[in-house]
Amino acid sequence: MKVIPASFEIQDDLDRQPLAERIEACGRICYKSEGRIGVNTAAPFIKNILLHGHNSVGEMGVATLRLEFDAESLAHKFLATQPKFVQIDRPGKGEMLITASMRGYREMFKGNPTDKLIKAMVGYLGNRHSLFFEDLVPRHGWMPQTGVVIEKLSLEAVDKLPYELRVKHRFLGVKFITNRAVTHEIVRHRPCSFLQESQRYCRYSEDKFDNQVTFIKPLFFAEDSPEYDLWEKAMVETEKLYLELLKTATPQAARTVLPNSCKTEIIVYCNLLEWLHILRLRTTQAAEPSMREVMIPLLKAFARRWPNIFGELALTC
Ligand SMILES: Cc1cc2nc3c(=O)[nH]c(=O)nc-3n(C[C@H](O)[C@H](O)[C@H](O)COP(=O)(O)OP(=O)(O)OC[C@H]3O[C@@H](n4cnc5c(N)ncnc54)[C@H](O)[C@@H]3O)c2cc1C
Repeated sequence: MKVIPASFEIQDDLDRQPLAERIEACGRICYKSEGRIGVNTAAPFIKNILLHGHNSVGEMGVATLRLEFDAESLAHKFLATQPKFVQIDRPGKGEMLITASMRGYREMFKGNPTDKLIKAMVGYLGNRHSLFFEDLVPRHGWMPQTGVVIEKLSLEAVDKLPYELRVKHRFLGVKFITNRAVTHEIVRHRPCSFLQESQRYCRYSEDKFDNQVTFIKPLFFAEDSPEYDLWEKAMVETEKLYLELLKTATPQAARTVLPNSCKTEIIVYCNLLEWLHILRLRTTQAAEPSMREVMIPLLKAFARRWPNIFGELALTC
């Protein structure tokens, strides 16, 4: 067995990659198959994922679109469709700023395929990121929607938006390596998108896991304490039972003996406003200590980068 400390990684590098590669890199966390990423692996991976309904993978990349249109009625009709999981702002008359994930845009279109602004947005994205919209292309292809002009904002452009817009439209992913108790709490933040290492698919007896189970070092017990010895004994015994079960059972059956201390990886992807909310809740004295162990340093890292958004909160830790 292996015991490692909890950690986190802000996924800036992924934001610099094309959308499909970003989404593949996130999706592979579930299977811990990142080693299989190569040239041209993103398309088949994503197609397969969409086919099997593993839809949250499609949430791991957003596009911010600026729409200009000549008729206000288009905005009213679009808003009447009650779009979900979408950030919408009206910087001015005849203008709209929209941020949604690939899944968000797909489902917007599936729910309201005749709305002009939705057709314009999905047609625009379908021409640029066809992989995500192939199955939705209308019989005559994506028809240009007259009276609507669309521009996709780069990440740099989103970062330059005024504060009120930036906190809503700037999305950021963080990968946590932590225990299962912490991730069980993190996933309660419903506005976020999540992808997590799956104990159903990962077989920890395989070489890529060094044939062992990894646990997160509990911060509650000093390493030389009797409590730590007890914890360690329990993990050794658990691993033995898990590996024994795997000789005849599937990972999803064997995992039933794995404890909260088991190491897991989770990607949390949301906008800066939601991060601020999460960090506000998860860094206080009332929060679980193992949660604070990762959230406080994350808040400090965010505060260094965006002092005007996270600086004040960081001073409270
Ligand atoms: C210190 C602490 C102790 C906790 N203890 C427990 C505990 O003992 N047991 C337990 O079960 N949980 C516990 N929780 C979890 C807590 O109740 C929340 O589920 C969690 O913090 C996420 O809350 P949230 O408001 O950020 O996210 P969400 O609950 O996901 O809400 C985010 C936003 O989504 C909207 N929303 C989404 N769905 C709905 C809905 N169905 N109805 C209304 N609005 C919705 C709301 O507008 C809300 O602003 C605890 C949390 C903390 C921080």
